Amino acid sequence: METTCAAGGPRAGTGEPALRRFGLENTALANKVLGGIIAEFKSGKIAKTISNTPFIRDPNDDRPCWNWSLKNRILMVMQGTFDARNIVQWNAVGRSIVPNRSAIYIVRPRIRYGCAKCSPKQKRTVWMSYQKDSRKYVCAKCEFSCEYTKIGETSDAETIKRIRGYGCQPEFRIEDTVGKTLPQYRPKQMPPLSDVAAEWNIAIKYQTDPTCRTMGSYRLEHNDIHLGTENAGIFFHEISHAADNIILQKKGKRLRGGQDAIQEAVAQLSACVLSELYATDSNKEFTFEYLRQYSRHGRNDEVARLALRVLDRTGAVIDLILSTAQKLEKKRPM
Ligand SMILES: [Zn+2]
Ligand SMILES: [Zn+2]
Repeated sequence: METTCAAGGPRAGTGEPALRRFGLENTALANKVLGGIIAEFKSGKIAKTISNTPFIRDPNDDRPCWNWSLKNRILMVMQGTFDARNIVQWNAVGRSIVPNRSAIYIVRPRIRYGCAKCSPKQKRTVWMSYQKDSRKYVCAKCEFSCEYTKIGETSDAETIKRIRGYGCQPEFRIEDTVGKTLPQYRPKQMPPLSDVAAEWNIAIKYQTDPTCRTMGSYRLEHNDIHLGTENAGIFFHEISHAADNIILQKKGKRLRGGQDAIQEAVAQLSACVLSELYATDSNKEFTFEYLRQYSRHGRNDEVARLALRVLDRTGAVIDLILSTAQKLEKKRPM
């Protein structure tokens, strides 16, 4: 009942409590997290992960991840969430971490600072050292010092910045927190056909589904759609599952739980057609690859056969969605 596990991937850092203890200082863990990205590049999965990563910032969206680099936002999505924050940030919005949940990791460069005034005179970089007591970076040669909170904002005329490695920064996923409900994210424009969902009393929620592994899901027992993306194609996939179920119910049946090959093929083919009709981003290629996952050996002819097998059922789903949309259109005041 879900679209692909695009937001899935292994949770970096899990099962390594010994490594985790070291937090920021742990380059080995950072390498492991980066290794995850490289593996995605190698498998070609990265394009999908990136397409699910938020790029355009809504002015009302104040998730702290917007202050991170794109690389870290990709890492966040790979680890199954659209909102990760540290403990202090969660507490500030009235939420706390569920006991025994582990952190996800983003990567931060560890920067070394040199004194820009002394270095040319000494013909080598004069490094500034961090003084724990005063919480300042201090030049070994001159009086120049800078508070650690301000050091990142110093100019090239004041400091020389060098990356000396990468460290991991633990963050917690919203799915691993409880407390005050956060204002729900609403896109500026709801996807086409969202009024059909409303007509069927299906709630659309812009947050990852409770399994945290998918970009979208339709839950039969709750009659809701979770979306982790504004991509209309994902919404079309989920509403197609819902339509499929309405048709099945008329025959005294219902959707099977989990990822059923036939159901998935119906939903994705239907989404593909709806995407064409509503001229949202074309997802023909994605559809082919999606169906391939559900064919036995992944051969092209098997994919085609799967598509043919579900053609009638897909037609009925599209018909139900479009006829409902048409009815709503007629009801709408001119
Ligand atoms: Zn699905
Ligand atoms: Zn100096």
